[in-house]
Amino acid sequence: GVTITGLHKSFGDNEVLKGIDMSVAPGEVVCLIGASGSGKSTLLRCVNRLETPNAGTITVGEHEATHPDVNLDAMRRQIGMVFQQFNLFPHLSVLENCTITPRRVLGQSKAEAETEALAQLDAVGLKHLSERRPDQLSGGQQQRVAIARALTMKPQLMLFDEPTSALDPETVGDVLASMRELAEAGMTMLVVTHEMGFAREVADRVVFMDQGLVVEEGPASSVIGAPQQPRTQDFLRRVL
Ligand code: ATP
Ligand code: MG
Repeated sequence: GVTITGLHKSFGDNEVLKGIDMSVAPGEVVCLIGASGSGKSTLLRCVNRLETPNAGTITVGEHEATHPDVNLDAMRRQIGMVFQQFNLFPHLSVLENCTITPRRVLGQSKAEAETEALAQLDAVGLKHLSERRPDQLSGGQQQRVAIARALTMKPQLMLFDEPTSALDPETVGDVLASMRELAEAGMTMLVVTHEMGFAREVADRVVFMDQGLVVEEGPASSVIGAPQQPRTQDFLRRVL
């Protein structure tokens, strides 16, 4: 799981995270919602130390992300990340995209990596496209490859940052279905999303952030279904 305590992050004079306390228990799915600029991506980026916090502690499993002596490579191996942009290697096939990191970082043999990659591609329904190049796939298919690729590293935690917001509407559903299956399989997930339907149906907990602070959190039925805080109510009125 993940535990975040007293997290502060500034860019120059701009204090983006103003003391965040949040956790994701092992096997839990937490959806993080909030207006543009509220600090959601910055929070996710602090978790795998793409950003360095100014204060506070973050632990990811046994790793203390904010400790000066943290082994970042070892920690990041435990964390799969899927972004809005899929960042697949354009010159590699789908299968090669999914085997390159396990081979280079985990030292797997070609055969071993391909067996695992094909299993993960099968799980997202794309095994039959393994020889294609990314530009021969739809956006939704590319995003499912990105999910499969992350899973080949056998992460303990998956971070998603608006994985469907760059997609054509007709391909969003398949990506959300793959994420839902992953959640049902017990993966620990922290998901930044504007998909309120997904949050309602899949999240164990929803966290609403505004201007660098957690304003409200709880089960989706409360936070989305019956928000208590005026800022949450305003936000939901705008997005629903
Ligand atoms: P969105 O929903 O639009 O993705 P967000 O909640 O993910 O928004 P962040 O991307 O975390 O918001 O940005 C929060 C604030 O931090 C914004 O004001 C942004 O301009 C600022 N910010 C983010 N990254 C940097 C950076 N590398 N340098 C300077 N400012 C940054
Ligand atoms: Mg963002």
